[in-house]
Amino acid sequence: MTQGTARVLSGPPAAAALLDEARRRAGRLPAVPHLALVRVGEDPASVSYVRGKAKKAAEVGLSSHVHALPDTTTQADLLALIDQLNADPAVSGILVQLPLPAHLDPAPALLAVHPAKDVDGLHPANTGALWNGHPGLRPCTPAGIMALLAHHGVPVRGVRAVVVGRSALVGRPLAGLLLNADATVTLAHGATPDLGQVTREADLLIVAAGQAHLITPDMIKPGATVVDVGINRVPTEDGKGRLTGDVHPGAAQVAGALTPVPGGVGPMTVAQLLMNTVIAAERQHDQLLTSEVPGEHVR
Ligand code: NAD
Repeated sequence: MTQGTARVLSGPPAAAALLDEARRRAGRLPAVPHLALVRVGEDPASVSYVRGKAKKAAEVGLSSHVHALPDTTTQADLLALIDQLNADPAVSGILVQLPLPAHLDPAPALLAVHPAKDVDGLHPANTGALWNGHPGLRPCTPAGIMALLAHHGVPVRGVRAVVVGRSALVGRPLAGLLLNADATVTLAHGATPDLGQVTREADLLIVAAGQAHLITPDMIKPGATVVDVGINRVPTEDGKGRLTGDVHPGAAQVAGALTPVPGGVGPMTVAQLLMNTVIAAERQHDQLLTSEVPGEHVR
């Protein structure tokens, strides 16, 4: 391998392909899939994320509604809204934007979302299905990473995959997805001694630790595919700071292929959220068809 030639696994074209598929499949359904976005309070990052998700949904031809609840919302108010959205046949998917204000507990809210509408894929019914290799809605960032790898033709079956980080949002579900795709999977984390010894075994190394430049070139097997999930803000001289990943830039001289930060995994998450909304709508539609009783009208 010539030095410095790692192939760039770019996110935007892979995200565009996923969005195209979501648009195409949404168009085949009798009703426009609808995404309910629930946000509590005015946390600026949450306001901006939710706005971005609604905008992308419209671009793909999905409908969405932002349920913006005030800071004074009680746990009971939030659960009542979720119940209402669960019962509404026009709602395909429900997303509760985190973090919630400190006086609200996210766990009961996430548990309250009906698993068939859980487009974040974080309900235990969906995480359990993932680990048992059964169909279900998958968490957006890990599923988006699998779509990114598929788009760029990176093989997963039979490869030695190492995931660094075991969060419920990224590392754990990603390990499950890789296992279901027939990789041999190692899940490393903050208590793993000699991380480099483990990562050097990887043909496919996926890093989601949230530690800038944790993975240095010497920790990478030459020619390996490296997926950098980390988004870290590091200080710059002008005081503005810049975003960098969990993988040292020198990795490009060792790896065979590498995702950039930004512009790698980042765009996949929202694209997968919209794909999940379409998948949820398809399954709800199939359910209606298969649960139809002759002589009765289902809705
Ligand atoms: P987290 O903090 O919940 O989990 C980090 C995990 O990394 C933990 O399991 C921890 O054990 C492990 N870890 C920390 N330091 C380590 C070390 N020195 N060696 C080995 N393992 C170590 O974080 P998260 O939510 O999983 O996110 C991880 C990173 O991915 C963050 O930078 C986050 O911003 C980014 N992220 C990006 C996207 C996206 O691109 N759309 C989505 C989610 C998260």
